[in-house]
Amino acid sequence: MSLAHGRPYLAIPGPSVMPEAVLRAMHRAAPNIYEGALPEMVAGLMPDLRYVAQTEGEVAIYIANGHGAWEAALANTVASGETVLVPATGRFGHGWADMAHGLGIESQIIDHDRGAPIDPERVRVALAADKGQKIKAVLAVHVDTSTSVRSDIAALRAVLDELGHPALLMADCIASLGCDRFEMDAWGADIMVTGSQKGLMVPPGLAFVFFNDRAAQARAGMPRVSWYWDWAPRANPDGFYQYFGGTAPTHHLYGLRVALDMIREEGIEAIWARHEVLARAIWTAVEHWGQGGPLRLTVADPAHRSHAVTALRIGAPYGEQLRQWSDGQAGVTLGIGLGMSEPEDPHGTGFFRFGHMGHVNAHMILGLVGTVEAGLDALGIPHTTGGVTKAAQIIAEATRDQD
Ligand SMILES: *Cc1c(COP(=O)(O)O)cnc(C)c1O
Repeated sequence: MSLAHGRPYLAIPGPSVMPEAVLRAMHRAAPNIYEGALPEMVAGLMPDLRYVAQTEGEVAIYIANGHGAWEAALANTVASGETVLVPATGRFGHGWADMAHGLGIESQIIDHDRGAPIDPERVRVALAADKGQKIKAVLAVHVDTSTSVRSDIAALRAVLDELGHPALLMADCIASLGCDRFEMDAWGADIMVTGSQKGLMVPPGLAFVFFNDRAAQARAGMPRVSWYWDWAPRANPDGFYQYFGGTAPTHHLYGLRVALDMIREEGIEAIWARHEVLARAIWTAVEHWGQGGPLRLTVADPAHRSHAVTALRIGAPYGEQLRQWSDGQAGVTLGIGLGMSEPEDPHGTGFFRFGHMGHVNAHMILGLVGTVEAGLDALGIPHTTGGVTKAAQIIAEATRDQD
């Protein structure tokens, strides 16, 4: 017997759960890309994308995943032989640095402890030491999905401004956009990159690069930019094909249209608030279970925890056992631990993650929490029972507070 038959919940940090309305919008015959509904629809996506990013800046779309967005941002602004500063808080910060390396860009990495957010002081020291202003950009991951730590992007802008350092501030919001509060213009990010498959609730395949005037100036000063990655024609096309440098990602665009409608209807503030409450329900359950056993949140300080993803440590081999049990017995797929292994646990089987980004609501999170508690019990993993009740109380309180 298995209790997994029924609607599954893919609770990994991307790809995220897709709304039925998004899937329905995508389920159609191939549309004409030269005239008609599809070309007419695309310009209207831009104001809604700007709304999600809280920016008046420009946006270029690529048929790519998040790695493509990383490359696009660099390809437009940092030339081979130049230097970037990467305050890395997990696997994804290092991944962006690796991408830079492949483009011939030098990375100056500031490595942070697992679970610690970017330390603006360390960034200040590195920038202050850069007398010749060789550093062209600071590559900051807003939410590093491997550790689930969230960093303060506005604090990095403050450091750059205080030092009068001209480096561009780039934010990776691939995990956080449409989940954790992010305000591109107010926080002073020059470039923000994201993808379609997390908070935006669309399948993987679209990458977005948002950029402001300073970043556009940096683009104008580049010796050359590859025709495909150049964001200028994508953001301001003369012809429809230029939006995508070729054939449009037809079905993704229909899905995105519906997802953006859903985001507009709920409102970005309400979306951030929903993610915050649901995340708090999860943390509260985990902290309760952990009183009587090995389960711990990777990020100790709630102020630095993402509302989109939660990384956990439970010790080998419990993480792997719990993931197998949840998937096989309850229909909930938990995320693997990423970039968190220890010498005695080379496969990272003591770590796992919850994805709670995008199209998730109270009953899904209570289902997730209830499943994990049942799994802890079934597998005989030490814990204090009653985390589910604690999570339910957070949900109850949050709704009671409303008018
Ligand atoms: C998912 C993710 C990426 C990578 O995106 P892909 O679509 O897998 O290429 C990069 N950065 C962060 C923060 C992510 O969460």
